[in-house]
Amino acid sequence: MADREVDFLLIGGGAAGAGCAKALREEGADGSILLVGREADPPYERPPLSKEYLAGKADRDAATIVDAGWWEENDVELATRVSVMKLDPEARTAKLSTKEEVAFGKALLATGANVRRLRVDGSDLDGIHYLRAFGNADAIREDAGASERVVLIGGSYIGCELAATLTAIGHQCSILMLEDVTLAHHFGDEVGHWIMGNLRDRGVEIHGGDELDRFEGADGHVTRVVSKGGLELAAGCVVLGTGVVPDVMVARQAGIELGEGGGIACSSRLETSVPGIYAAGDVAEFESPLHGRRAKVEHFEVAVAHGRTAALNMLGRDVAHEVVPYFWSDLADWATIEYVGVGLGEPVIRGSIDEGSFSVFYLDGDRVVGGLAVSRSGDIEHATRLISGRATPDRAALADESTDLASL
Ligand SMILES: Cc1cc2nc3c(=O)[nH]c(=O)nc-3n(C[C@H](O)[C@H](O)[C@H](O)COP(=O)(O)OP(=O)(O)OC[C@H]3O[C@@H](n4cnc5c(N)ncnc54)[C@H](O)[C@@H]3O)c2cc1C
Repeated sequence: MADREVDFLLIGGGAAGAGCAKALREEGADGSILLVGREADPPYERPPLSKEYLAGKADRDAATIVDAGWWEENDVELATRVSVMKLDPEARTAKLSTKEEVAFGKALLATGANVRRLRVDGSDLDGIHYLRAFGNADAIREDAGASERVVLIGGSYIGCELAATLTAIGHQCSILMLEDVTLAHHFGDEVGHWIMGNLRDRGVEIHGGDELDRFEGADGHVTRVVSKGGLELAAGCVVLGTGVVPDVMVARQAGIELGEGGGIACSSRLETSVPGIYAAGDVAEFESPLHGRRAKVEHFEVAVAHGRTAALNMLGRDVAHEVVPYFWSDLADWATIEYVGVGLGEPVIRGSIDEGSFSVFYLDGDRVVGGLAVSRSGDIEHATRLISGRATPDRAALADESTDLASL
C-alpha cells in the first residue's frame, strides 16, 4: 500500500518539470500534482550560470522559472531536496528518498543531464570545476578571482560563454579544445571563426586541435594544465565544458526503454515505452517529426516546450512535439547568437559577418533546416517559419538583403 496518491508525479525540478507543472494547470488539469526535485533550489534557469549570474550581475531569484508564490497559488506541491529512488511502472508507484511511497496516475521523467566528467591525472585537485548548478558558478567565481588565469577545457557553449563572461569581468582566460574552431560543430566554420576572432580580440588565448593530458598542482590545488601536444598552461582555476550525459538512472532501473543516444526513448508525443509515463527535456530522446528521426536536444526552451507537450498528452490531447528548437548563447555583452532548427547544412549568409550583423540559413538540399542570427531577431522568426513549413526557398533570394523574407 502506497503512503499517498497523486494524479501527476513529475520527477526532476528543472525547466522540463516546471514547464510541465505550469502547462498542466494552464490547460485545466484539476488533479493533484507533485513535483519532486533533488536540488535545494526551486526550478531555475541554468543559462544565467555561465552568463549574468556568473558575472555577479543577477541573483538566484532572477533565475527562478516561476515566482515563489506560484506553487501554492496553483496548488502544485514542490518537494525540493527529495529524489525519486525507484520507480515501479507496473504498480505505478515511486519510492522517494524520504522513504515515502507515492502512487501515481501519470508520471513525467524530467531528470535532465549530468556533466560529462574527464578522468585524467590530477582531476581531483582543488580549483577544477564543472558547471551545472548555482553552487558550481559560485565556486568558479571565487576561484577565478583568486587566480591569474582561468583555463577552459572545451570550445563549445560552456567554454566560449565562460571565456567571454570571465574576460569581461577582468579575468585572463585560455581555451584548450579538441576542435580547430570554436563552436564550429554547432554553427559551422564561418560563424565559428567569427566567434573565435571575437574572443581573441578580447584577449582570450585559444589553443585548438589539442587534447587535455593531465593537471598538475601544488598543495592540493591545480597550478598547471598540460596538453597531449606538450602545451603547459599555468592555471589556478580550470573549468571543463565537456558535454553532458542524460540522467537515466531512474528510467533504467524501472526497465524503461533507452535510446541509442543514451536518453529515454519516447514517441513524438513524448510517451516512453510505458504508457502513461512521459519524458521531457535533456533526458528525452524523442521521435521528432521535424528532424525526421529520433532526436535529443539539450536547450532550455526545448525543455520547457517538451514539458508543455507532455502535459497536453497527459491530459489526453494527443499532440506530437513539433516545436522548432530554439537556442541562444550570450557572449558577454558583445553578442547574442540565436539559433533555431534541426541541424546544420550548407550555409547561406545574409548580411555581413565582418560587421557582426548577419544571419545564416542552413540548407539541406533545398530545405531550410536551421537559422542563426546575430543582432537580427526578426530573421529568426522567419527561419522558424521556413523550417516548420519545410520550405525550399531560392538561395539567391535568401542571401539578398533586399528580399523581404516574409515573401519567401
Ligand atoms: C551553464 C549552462 C548554461 C546553459 N546555457 C544555455 C543557453 O544559453 N541556452 C539554452 O537554450 N540552453 C542552455 N543550457 C541548457 C539548458 O539549461 C538545459 O537544456 C535545461 O536546463 C534542461 O532542462 P531539464 O529540465 O531537462 O534538465 P535539468 O535542468 O538538468 O533538470 C533536471 C533536474 O532533475 C533533477 N533530478 C535528476 N534525477 C532526479 C531524481 N531521481 N529525483 C529527483 N530529481 C532528480 C536534477 O537534480 C535536476 O535538478 C545551459 C546549461 C548550463 C548548465
